[in-house]
Amino acid sequence: MSRKSSQAHEILYNPAMRYRILLAIVVALFLTTGLSAQSEPPFRSLNAINWMDFKQWVPARIDTVLLPVGTLEAHGVVNNGADNTVPEALARDLAQRVNAMRAPVIPYGVTTSLSAFPGTFRISPTVFKAYCREVMAGLAGSGFKNIIVINGHGPNFQPLQEAAAEISEQTGARTLVFNWWSYTADVTKEVYGSDGGHSGVNENAAVLATTPQYVRRQLYDAEQAWWRAEGVAAYPYPSSIILYKEGEGYPDFDEQKAKLFYGKVVEKVEKLILTTIEKWDLAGL
Ligand SMILES: [Zn+2]
Repeated sequence: MSRKSSQAHEILYNPAMRYRILLAIVVALFLTTGLSAQSEPPFRSLNAINWMDFKQWVPARIDTVLLPVGTLEAHGVVNNGADNTVPEALARDLAQRVNAMRAPVIPYGVTTSLSAFPGTFRISPTVFKAYCREVMAGLAGSGFKNIIVINGHGPNFQPLQEAAAEISEQTGARTLVFNWWSYTADVTKEVYGSDGGHSGVNENAAVLATTPQYVRRQLYDAEQAWWRAEGVAAYPYPSSIILYKEGEGYPDFDEQKAKLFYGKVVEKVEKLILTTIEKWDLAGL
């Protein structure tokens, strides 16, 4: 037996050495499987994540992004930024549930009939659409296959929808745009037994559930609400609380009920996003 092979023999048949080798193999296996099985990125926010982590996760393990969009305008007794607050909260609460990253909110939108109210901003639809289009192009260029736009403000919808369609045609990314409050109108009926409104019961509840500090209940007077009937136009609107139906949808300040409402909204929106992605996959798009 040569000197080398006798050394090898000694290592393999020495119980202490065999134990050490086995231990090293176990540790190495644990480290590799532990790393590959890492199920959560350090952050799901595009603001917070580092580019090296981003590269590891997008698009290999996360190819969906949530893009909240809103505006600044008067909202009854909640914050002027309610249209940003709710989509941001939804993106935060849904990111992990739908395995997505979340983009920072686009906070300036197309405000029209409420622009006379203090603190309201107004971006023209052309500029807004062009800007959102480039944001979506950037997201597609970063590797996201599914761009999910959570809209918090009605007049943003058309320019957003057009921009999303154009980006999809250009880049092949799949886009979904929805108004959170319209899509969940049935949840408002289920929880509150009524229709909602602009800063009505539904929007008020979403703010109350997610950021109760933004609800200035002491300023509330039901007289502030206005019902906008079909075929009626006023400019500016005489109120920032605009009910969808006469006599219903007034703000409610029960925090528990608001949480129940918001939880159901999250569930419904989660289902919309997951089902849409599933159907896109099924169709091979
Ligand atoms: Zn709003």
